[in-house]
Amino acid sequence: MIIKKDKSIIQNYFEDNSGVRGSNADFVAVAETEDDIPSFLSEMSKANTPVTIAGALTGNTASGLAFGGAVLSLEKLNQIGEIEKINDNNAVITVQAGAKTNDIKLKACSAGWMYPPDPTEKNASIGGNISTNASGGRGFKFGATRDYVKALKVVFSDGSISFVERGKYFADGNGAITFKALT
Ligand SMILES: Cc1cc2nc3c(=O)[nH]c(=O)nc-3n(C[C@H](O)[C@H](O)[C@H](O)COP(=O)(O)OP(=O)(O)OC[C@H]3O[C@@H](n4cnc5c(N)ncnc54)[C@H](O)[C@@H]3O)c2cc1C
Repeated sequence: MIIKKDKSIIQNYFEDNSGVRGSNADFVAVAETEDDIPSFLSEMSKANTPVTIAGALTGNTASGLAFGGAVLSLEKLNQIGEIEKINDNNAVITVQAGAKTNDIKLKACSAGWMYPPDPTEKNASIGGNISTNASGGRGFKFGATRDYVKALKVVFSDGSISFVERGKYFADGNGAITFKALT
């Protein structure tokens, strides 16, 4: 984990496309590997320090901007795996949360596939797209980002991890969902 505290450097994490001013944080933690995240979140949780996840900060609503606490940036978690064909019409790809949507789209195109969601902003991260359920010009025909998510590896704020596959978890009568922790 890289910890950045220099105000002149971390200033870049305090702006997105919303125009909202006043974002601030004590420090920015840039995850270098996925393994950095559980222990960091657990530590922050125990210290009651709020954590704001920054994707590529292209958002228009300031939801990626911190107002106190820490910023966790996923910008370095940008690996894109190989495309695995399921049948003639469908394929899957595993990517890290900080991968740029445009890079995923280009990888699909170069292998003769199409990544149907086409949010306009090329520099957004797939984690941000999933979080906001981004859609674009193709949305009316093909739907939005979440329609194309088969599974997520999720790190909760206490540092626990779950692998959440579509259709495997449902809310109970009280609206609660219990996730199985990865060991
Ligand atoms: C020119 C322009 C065009 C745009 N066009 C579109 C469009 O066509 N359709 C559209 O829907 N939006 C559009 N947007 C808005 C923006 O690009 C999207 O909301 C995008 O999904 C944000 O992704 P990001 O990586 O920049 O996320 P950020 O702005 O960094 O974060 C957005 C939210 O996602 C959360 N988040 C990010 N990554 C993760 C993660 N890994 N885990 C959990 N939470 C996370 C953040 O905490 C925050 O709440 C556009 C923006 C611009 C500037």
